[in-house]
Amino acid sequence: MSSELEDAAIDETRQLAADADRVIVKAGTNSLTDDESNLDIEKLDKLVDDLEDLLSRDKDVILVSSGAVGAGTGRIEPSSGTVEESQALSTVGQSHLMHHYTESFGRYDRKVAQLLLTQHDLENPERFTNLRNTIETLLDWGVVPIINENDAVATEEIRIGDNDMLSSAAAIGVDADLLVTLTDVGGVYTGNPKEDDDAERIEAVGTNYDTVQDIISETTSAGFGGIQTKVEGARDVSEHGIPAVIAKSTEPDVLEKIATAKPVGTIFIPINGVSDD
Ligand code: GLU
Repeated sequence: MSSELEDAAIDETRQLAADADRVIVKAGTNSLTDDESNLDIEKLDKLVDDLEDLLSRDKDVILVSSGAVGAGTGRIEPSSGTVEESQALSTVGQSHLMHHYTESFGRYDRKVAQLLLTQHDLENPERFTNLRNTIETLLDWGVVPIINENDAVATEEIRIGDNDMLSSAAAIGVDADLLVTLTDVGGVYTGNPKEDDDAERIEAVGTNYDTVQDIISETTSAGFGGIQTKVEGARDVSEHGIPAVIAKSTEPDVLEKIATAKPVGTIFIPINGVSDD
């Protein structure tokens, strides 16, 4: 991505992202918990401060938050590692998480709402319409919808899979203008930045998508919630004309930077499935 045309497309997409009226922000478990799997209130407050920046610009903001199983693990210290145990942990962690979101947004006099979803809710048109209506009403009230998968009931057949897929489905379904995926790495890299010092951040993904896919499959192991699913989620929304950014949750004022068209993380240029690779 170096031609003048592509530079212009990147600038244009940054501006599109900055001008977004409706934003979905997805925060991963690592962005909310510490090394011992305790909910990290400082991290949560930082996320809420960043979200408040968007809200104070009169944008509609919907949060997709992971961290339920993670936060539950820190509170219960589970022993067996079974699926049933993870499901039960999610219920402990989810209420803990929502308690702290309620408190943290309360610092700004804002109210929050919890929405727990399964694949059925995304696939069934009637349920999805009801969900959309609920979200629209919450946004009209100025309440911040916080979405997670309903891990307590979501077994194989009705699992969405991960919150990267959930957030891209939500972004497309509620006509969002931007998807931001916050993670513990600063975007998409030419290698695994946690292991490879020479790994360079890829500034933008557009017509280079296939090349980026090849790099990712060579440098990362496929896995639940890894960079691959984030890239797929971002690509999905960009194919629907919605820009997406993958960025580091610890980056200072990360959402403000996006809202002011500053270069941050990796931006996905809206595209209609066209590739020149
Ligand atoms: N729903 C899971 C949780 O809240 C996380 C799923 C994901 O991170 O993709 O713990």
